[in-house]
Amino acid sequence: MSHAFWQDTAGALLTIDLGAIRDNWRQLRARVGRARCAAVVKADAYGLGAVRVAPALADAGCRDFFVAHLDEALALKPLLPAAATLHVLHGPTPGAEAEFAAQGIVPVLNSPAQLAAWRALAQRLDRELPAFVQVDTGMARLGLAPAELRAVAADAQALVGVRVIGVMSHLACAEDQAHPANREQLERFRAARRLLPAAPASFANSSGVFLGEDYHFDLVRPGAALYGVAPVMGMPNPMRPVVKLQGKVIQVRGIEAGTPVGYGHGWRSGRPARIATVSVGYADGWLRSLSNRGCAWAGDVALPLVGKVSMDTVTLDASALPDGVLQPGALVELINERQGVDAVAAQAGTIGYEILTSLGQRYARRYLDEIEPAREKAAIKGEKWPDVAGSTAGAFRQRRRP
Ligand SMILES: *Cc1c(COP(=O)(O)O)cnc(C)c1O
Repeated sequence: MSHAFWQDTAGALLTIDLGAIRDNWRQLRARVGRARCAAVVKADAYGLGAVRVAPALADAGCRDFFVAHLDEALALKPLLPAAATLHVLHGPTPGAEAEFAAQGIVPVLNSPAQLAAWRALAQRLDRELPAFVQVDTGMARLGLAPAELRAVAADAQALVGVRVIGVMSHLACAEDQAHPANREQLERFRAARRLLPAAPASFANSSGVFLGEDYHFDLVRPGAALYGVAPVMGMPNPMRPVVKLQGKVIQVRGIEAGTPVGYGHGWRSGRPARIATVSVGYADGWLRSLSNRGCAWAGDVALPLVGKVSMDTVTLDASALPDGVLQPGALVELINERQGVDAVAAQAGTIGYEILTSLGQRYARRYLDEIEPAREKAAIKGEKWPDVAGSTAGAFRQRRRP
């Protein structure tokens, strides 16, 4: 069996299918009809690498991007076409307003204080500044509370200098389609819009897209579904899987019945067994709550994970395979089409979002279906792109291995 160089030096391999991400975005866009489909690429595109993911989505036609922090937006700006808009969900932290305006990054204003600071900057610069305004419709996290919204509506000066290019809110329970909070939030959002200047509205995250047309408004903001996470609780997942995680076998040993395995002697076999040690651990985001849970796949054979997850390793009961089949260097699959991100999350007692954003930095990462260098394509389309030659994406491309 021949290994490419990138496999030989790594303990574990993470394959990220950019083509599947683009397909997922196209599917969501098709589902929302006339509404625009943004992409949420915060937290390094849910751990998958925003500098690769965002340009791939731009290539598919996405022009609206959301991140959480200003730093995330600044890192992505040079990699996106000039026509793309980057929105920062947390809005400006005190003192960061001028940088937003200078860089043309759109803040989501979440509080009267953020609104006042943005308005003050607009007055100082003597020009209108664009912003999204978020209203809280039932999550008590970010956005104007009902009384704050009424105060803004009653104050003729509140939005002077602020060009409201979007009004948004966020759903708390959208993955549960039967949850009564969805309708309640929708009604509150409609009422809130009537108190603000007429502007495009944005309400739905991934799961919200699947709640139906009422929830789509003008712009939807999916994140997780782009990355293959199931958007609707209790329903088959319509999204394409995006990640595959393979760990390398380091050592295989036979043990007697009753031999304790791993930290805390967290597992003992009732019979003679064969233990394979694989180089993926909780430092790689294979959560310790997966101790004694789930399996790894060697071809069609499921090998149960036994014992505690260590920092750098997990141990498998490989007894189902004949002696000698699993050799050091062999790859077993921890996330694949049979055991997807959501299945791993269920075993760990968490959600797919946390599995993805926990994926460590130690993997050899391979990106499938990478786009042509964005500039070349843009030149063909006659679209203006910034110079990416010195950018992170450019550096990645130069380092790309066969
Ligand atoms: C993270 C986030 C999203 C994306 O949510 P998904 O459930 O991942 O689709 C959309 N809007 C806001 C305000 C968010 O914080």
